[in-house]
Amino acid sequence: MTDGTADTDSVSALRSVRELDRSDPLAALRAEFVLPDDRIYLDGNSLGPLPGWVAERLHAVAVQEWGQGLVSSWHTAGWYDMPTRLGDRIGRLIGAGPGQVVVADSTSINLFKVVCAALAMRPGRSEIVSEAGNFPSDLYVLQGVVRLLPEVTVRLVGRDGSLEELLGGNTAVAVLTEVDFRTGRRHPMADVTRCVQDAGALMVWDLAHSAGAFPVDVDGCHVDMAVGCTYKYLNGGPGSPAFVYVARRHQDQALTPLNGWIGHDDPFAFAPDYRPAADIRRFLCGTPAILSYAPLEASLDIWDRVDLDTVRDKSVRLASLFVELVDRLDPAYGLSLVSPRDAAQRGSQVSLRHRHGLAVMRALIERGVVGDFRAPDILRFGLTPLTLRYQDVYDAVRVLAEILETGLWRDMPCERGNTPT
Ligand SMILES: *Cc1c(COP(=O)(O)O)cnc(C)c1O
Repeated sequence: MTDGTADTDSVSALRSVRELDRSDPLAALRAEFVLPDDRIYLDGNSLGPLPGWVAERLHAVAVQEWGQGLVSSWHTAGWYDMPTRLGDRIGRLIGAGPGQVVVADSTSINLFKVVCAALAMRPGRSEIVSEAGNFPSDLYVLQGVVRLLPEVTVRLVGRDGSLEELLGGNTAVAVLTEVDFRTGRRHPMADVTRCVQDAGALMVWDLAHSAGAFPVDVDGCHVDMAVGCTYKYLNGGPGSPAFVYVARRHQDQALTPLNGWIGHDDPFAFAPDYRPAADIRRFLCGTPAILSYAPLEASLDIWDRVDLDTVRDKSVRLASLFVELVDRLDPAYGLSLVSPRDAAQRGSQVSLRHRHGLAVMRALIERGVVGDFRAPDILRFGLTPLTLRYQDVYDAVRVLAEILETGLWRDMPCERGNTPT
């Protein structure tokens, strides 16, 4: 920025950024996480950062609970109830009353379970409606379902028609991700759910980019089933177990095809025939991976103290600041906003488009601003209110401007591809 007006503008912007940080009700939470000093981490929507005492908690689980408690720890250390206990705590974050969420397996596996359950609950209907831009793993899971059940077909919004056009008397289930992983666009959950159910179908939501990003109200929106990750906004650690929600009204009929003893009504009877648990536990399959639950449990201790309306409020402000600062950049840089301008239609990420997006993101990462890139040209910036300061957003956009101003990105190797997860 060379002319005097821009300088004055940026000085006053910086002043207001400092003011925003001073009055941020979530500011103190940042100190509870391990964050490298030399980086601005805008990828918490892909892998949330490490809560400070997770290492200690993992050590205690290994040394005391496993080392000393041995097999008794299944009861004395509460291992056995971990999937339901943590499920209820995640339930609070997604608007699910107790007894409707379990934590287990991965999002992809849980999606397979609920989609099969939903199909069986709509006999005579054979179509799954999803979205062409859905997260690929979700689409792969649906393709696997079709391989198993050849009478089933998948119809995709954005390829085969609009949602309204695709829903009909043959739709068994709609599978949508609330927040688009590329663009950050958010579906209106209540309206879409109603529309799907008016067609007589069941609604399955993927909440991978919703849980911990803003308040979700699955009960209030009368959602049928949902799945989601715990390693993104919830900071449960790499590959931490996912969650699955099945509304209580469906728990009698909904059956996972992955029958395992932990989902049996009485696992320790060791009966030869499967009998599903009467409650949400029927969506469990095998032995829970206890060592992977420990970091999530520690992270949920932070979430228990956080009000999600406050999180959303800060998320909207962080994103508005980001968009406002990007808007001021020279149009000649070739950046454009991919995410909706209207905060109500956005999750907690801002995506930008640039023709040389991969090289620009590589240059950003090299300069300590960690976002990610999604082919062909999308730069993603995750805005996680628990750990980010307004100052970080300001500094990140300043580095972005420098890279584009100096053409530094031209020095980056730019083969095709995405930055890692
Ligand atoms: C991240 C993500 C997943 C991840 O699924 P895993 O089975 O946990 O690897 C699934 N769906 C969406 C929409 C995602 O963004």
